[in-house]
Amino acid sequence: MEPYYTQAENLYHVHGNRGEDPTEPWASAPYRYPAVSHEPRIQHLAEDFQRAGLKNHFIWPLGIMIDEKNSQTSACIRCNTCDGHPCLINAKADAQVVCVDPALKHEKVRC
Ligand code: SF4
Repeated sequence: MEPYYTQAENLYHVHGNRGEDPTEPWASAPYRYPAVSHEPRIQHLAEDFQRAGLKNHFIWPLGIMIDEKNSQTSACIRCNTCDGHPCLINAKADAQVVCVDPALKHEKVRC
């Protein structure tokens, strides 16, 4: 599926650290966007796992439009309702936000 899978990850703003997941298949390029930092509780767990000698923990890749270095301009505000809910400010990089809505702006595309 490469290089199309990596192109799709770029399109869908996937943030992550290539190579951290030991089950990850070969990819033609690193993730375009940096991994999203852990929430404080998960960071504590990650540190506890590391102290216990567990090595295969990693930051899960996420398709969201977040810029942790520039929070003033970041689309994602890192709210508490992300899991299992639609994003009310369209900051999840899903098919509707990234592909369908922009396509519908073209005059020749109708739903
Ligand atoms: S719901 Fe939207 S704003 Fe909230 S964390 Fe998820 S992507 Fe970010």
